[in-house]
Parts: sequence; structure tokens; C-alpha cells
Amino acid sequence: MKLDATDLRYVTSDEFRVLTAVEMGSKNHEIVPLSLIVQISGLRNGGVNKLVGSLAKRNLISKVQNAKYDGYRLTYGGYDYLAMRALSKRDAMHSVGNQIGVGKESDIYIVADAEGNEMVLKLHRLGRVSFRAIKEKRDYLGKRKSASWMYMSRLAAQKEWAFMKACLMFSILPQFTEVEKILHEHNFPVPRPIDQARHTILMEFIDAYPLRQVSEVVNPGKLYSELMDVIVRFAQAGLIHGDYNEFNILIRRTTGEPVVIDFPQMVSTSHENAEWYFNRDVEKVLEEGTAEPGFKLDVMVEASGFGRKEMQVLEEYMESVKEQEEQSSEVYSEEESEEEKSEEIEQIQQETIESEDMPSTNLEEGGSVPMTVDAPAPPKYQ
Ligand code: ADP
Ligand code: MG
Repeated sequence: MKLDATDLRYVTSDEFRVLTAVEMGSKNHEIVPLSLIVQISGLRNGGVNKLVGSLAKRNLISKVQNAKYDGYRLTYGGYDYLAMRALSKRDAMHSVGNQIGVGKESDIYIVADAEGNEMVLKLHRLGRVSFRAIKEKRDYLGKRKSASWMYMSRLAAQKEWAFMKACLMFSILPQFTEVEKILHEHNFPVPRPIDQARHTILMEFIDAYPLRQVSEVVNPGKLYSELMDVIVRFAQAGLIHGDYNEFNILIRRTTGEPVVIDFPQMVSTSHENAEWYFNRDVEKVLEEGTAEPGFKLDVMVEASGFGRKEMQVLEEYMESVKEQEEQSSEVYSEEESEEEKSEEIEQIQQETIESEDMPSTNLEEGGSVPMTVDAPAPPKYQ
């Protein structure tokens, strides 16, 4: 999917309010009824009618006709917009450049801050399978009735963020212990995580090629032992990468050093299938992997707020993706009583206000959102 940043500048405050209302409504509705959008946004009926039209025209939401009622869904474009708006509001990013990667379940863009420093924005794109199958299996969603691509993509970003933060903390933590050896041992070669919003992660740009594209490695023996070393150190800290392959290992252009990326499928070494995951990543290093760890990355990840429950939700999702590859998503809805609806709105608003930059009644003044699109220099490799 193409990110069209030019549109982002022209979202008015009322449009933003409606867009956010669709996002809030999506937490419990696959298709958000117009009446709910009106209710959450607090705007007039007629006004909302026009605003949904203009948002739909720009593909930030899409109209869905349903057996029971007509309604709207947030699109990936709309969700991207909300995430980037949050990042730009806190000055983490300022402009969007070229797309440098398209993964099965993510899009990668070069972005820049106000000073023009390049970074990487990873937008997670989960949810191309039916959620009904997952929902039938388990009750873990609690009140959140419509587990959606939004929710799963956000969980993936949050998980990746938690792991990257934990790795980063291990890289800097030992500096304070004055033990150089430990510093070196725990200096995980991963991009520095910078910020996280919704389904996105902002991180350091690594000037590198994926190992997959490198036709000739200068010193294969050295690279091999470095890669083994990284995987063992991850395991000693309690983690298994889970997708350790030539697409997720970048080779720095300048030094030839490896940098490991792509963490949403990481598992703890205490996971019941840890051995299987580990063996899949690399064979015959299990003994080192189960050595008594000095630090526990997996424990830190949990302490960071990405808990077992979230981990389980995402894991089950990923497993079910494997099971039903290529199955297209189904649309359905559930009717609710008016009382349930208003409780729900309160709950959603509360959640969103606590966790995000969400809009109370005083949204932004003025019309447009300050997101510039002066494209930064093209990516350094291609
Ligand atoms: P996916 O989960 O879709 O596989 P990845 O995180 O593996 O996404 O990223 C896909 C591609 O984007 C990588 O192979 C790499 O070429 C590029 N990429 C990702 N993160 C960075 C980064 N921090 N610096 C430079 N390139 C990156
Ligand atoms: Mg990858």
C-alpha cells in the first residue's frame, strides 16, 4: 500500500474528530454504524454525513454496506494517518520519504525529523485472515468483541517495541556497572528504537543491505560466528528471535557488521515450544541457549507493559495465520443494545484518552495538520 503523505496535511479538525470516532468505534465494531460515529464525535448528524464522505473519498475510511446496517471502517490509510499524526505531534517525525521495504506483514518507510535526520518507520499490517476463526477458539479478547487487523497490528508493533527497548536497555545498562566485559557482551546489534504509536515503530535507519542481497561476504567465517554469537546471547538473556533469516539480518554497508531486525515473532525461552523455535532459528546451540542467564530480557519485556496476555493473543493470531494463509478477511457484525453502546463508548473513550493523544472536546484549532512532505534524500541503498 502506498502512503500518500500529501493528503495528510489537509485533514481538518472536524474530519480528524470523525476519523478518531471511527477508530474508537472500531474497537468493538467491525463496521462502525453512522449513528455511533455521530455519538462519539459529538458533531451534528448532517455535518458527520459530509465529513465521512470526504474522508471516504481520500481512502481514510471506507463505506461498508452490511446486511443489518451501513457503516464505515477505518482503512490502513486512516490508521497510518492517525499514527503519523501522533508521532509528528510529539516531534518524533516530521516528513515522509521513500518506501524501502514491503514485508508480508509490514511496510517500511524512510522518514525524517525536523532536522532532516533519517529514520525508519515500520507500519505493521496484520489481519489479512479471518478473525472469526480465532475468536471461536478463545475468549481472550474479553469485552473487545471485534479483534481486528488494527488491534493485531498494534499488538505486533507494541511487542516489537518492547523487545527493542529491552535490547537497547541491555546495551546501555551495563555502562553504569563499569564492567566493560558485560557491556560488550550485551551490546545487542539491533536498530535503536525511537518511538512507537499505534501499529507503527520509529527506529534508527541502518545503512545496510539485507544479507539476502549481499552476493559476496568478505569474511563468511567471521560473520557466521557473529551471527551465532548473537543468537546465543539472545537465548542467554531469555529470548529467541523466531525468524532469524537472511531477510532479517542486515549487513552494514560501511563495516560489514550484522544488525538484526524484525522482532514481532520473538518468544521467551520459557515458552512451551521454545526448543522448537530455537532449533528453527539455529541448530545445535541449545546447550548455550539454556545456560543460566545473567539478565532476563524476556522478564524486562514483560515489565515494560507488554504482558503474557498480549503475547498470547498475538501468538495465537500468528499461528492461525499460518493455518489459514491467504484466506481473505470476513466482515460481520453484532448488534447491541443502546445501553451497551453507551457504556462501550465511555469505556473506549476512557481507554483511548489514557493511552493515546486522543481528542477530548477541544481538538486542534485551525484546519490542517502540520505534517510536511518535503521528501528527504532517497534512501542510501537500493
Ligand atoms: P517484515 O516484518 O515485513 O519482514 P522487516 O522489519 O523485516 O519487516 O523489514 C523489511 C525490510 O525493510 C528489511 O529487509 C530491510 O530491508 C528494511 N528495514 C527494516 N528496518 C530497517 C532499518 N532499521 N534500517 C534499514 N532498513 C530497514
Ligand atoms: Mg522481515
